[in-house]
Amino acid sequence: MFELDGFLQQQREQELYRARITCEGAQGPLQVCDGKPFLSFCSNDYLGLAADPRIADSLRKATEQYGVGSGAAHLINGHTSAHHALEEELAEFTGRERALLFSTGYMANLGVVSALVGRNDEVVADKLVHASLIDAAKLSGAKLKRYQHADVASLASRLEKPITSKRLVVTDGVFSMDGDIAPLPEIINKIGDSKNTATLLDDAHGIGVLGQHGRGCVEHFDCNSDVDILMATLGKAFGTFGAFVAGSEELIETLIQSARSYIFTTAMPAAIAEATRTSLKIVQTENERREKLQQLIKQFRAGAQQLGLRLADSITPIQPIIVGSAEQAVKMSKALADKGILVSAIRPPTVPAGTARLRITFSAAHNEKQVEELLSALESLV
Ligand SMILES: *Cc1c(COP(=O)(O)O)cnc(C)c1O
Repeated sequence: MFELDGFLQQQREQELYRARITCEGAQGPLQVCDGKPFLSFCSNDYLGLAADPRIADSLRKATEQYGVGSGAAHLINGHTSAHHALEEELAEFTGRERALLFSTGYMANLGVVSALVGRNDEVVADKLVHASLIDAAKLSGAKLKRYQHADVASLASRLEKPITSKRLVVTDGVFSMDGDIAPLPEIINKIGDSKNTATLLDDAHGIGVLGQHGRGCVEHFDCNSDVDILMATLGKAFGTFGAFVAGSEELIETLIQSARSYIFTTAMPAAIAEATRTSLKIVQTENERREKLQQLIKQFRAGAQQLGLRLADSITPIQPIIVGSAEQAVKMSKALADKGILVSAIRPPTVPAGTARLRITFSAAHNEKQVEELLSALESLV
């Protein structure tokens, strides 16, 4: 066996060592982790649906009908009428011809990028896109070009050189560690109408949260028809598990033929698909969840500004406080934990060196009093 201790030791010395906490019960503002009660601000359960009894009920009922395991990949016999119905409903929700379910968002990105581009092609990505998109570009063998974060002029410089092969421009909709929204209309405008360029939007943190009906960044900017490929996850605002890609009939058929992370993996359990159908109805109809979330975000930002905290430029439930060193971020996260508040310290390599931060996230399941509690805990740290 290899010697591994050197690496582990180094991680410890640089305050980069990662350890899990073990939580009891369902996702929600109040959680018992490592045996202690916490008020939590670190989940991606933005709409407070992860423990919604209606969704849990759908899961239970569907388990009676479908059992637990899906037994095989979609292309063998793991594709059920539950998956099929959810795909049709997601296509309608996103205003696209078709949608295709993947087992996770990570796999969706690997699948879609490597199915569409290869060795002679280019992936042009925002510097802060999610790790899964970077891994996807590497797996595809395409040349990876990065542009400065949310910087359309930098994007333009990466697009200057004409190419005859394919070029896939990829961006997160809402950036997972910063909470800001990609300037989609400007990005679309810069790309223009080119036969060998396509856009892939990863809206993991926008879907369900942004737009009046929760259709995410494309609804926020009213630019759905200008984004070629939409990918989003179901484990965040939707409160279930999995992911989907939505787009044209040809796109989805291409993925079914050639996305390896689709073909060579077991289908998500049908009961999860059924639970997600219930979640989708709630996401579309319960606007009050998005409104509540916006109120909490406003309350937090106003309070944090009064405390003189360095806020990010974010209107989304992701509200990071950049502190700089990994050491300082860990120290603050620990101090909050001592006060019963759970906020994760995000360190390199998840974020660039020198920008370690507290990543505070809000959920429609929080209340005003809990936001006040967070603010007063932060006050005692500054
Ligand atoms: C969470 C996330 C993913 C991965 O989705 P999973 O379903 O958790 O694998 C992909 N992209 C972004 C931007 C994410 O935040």
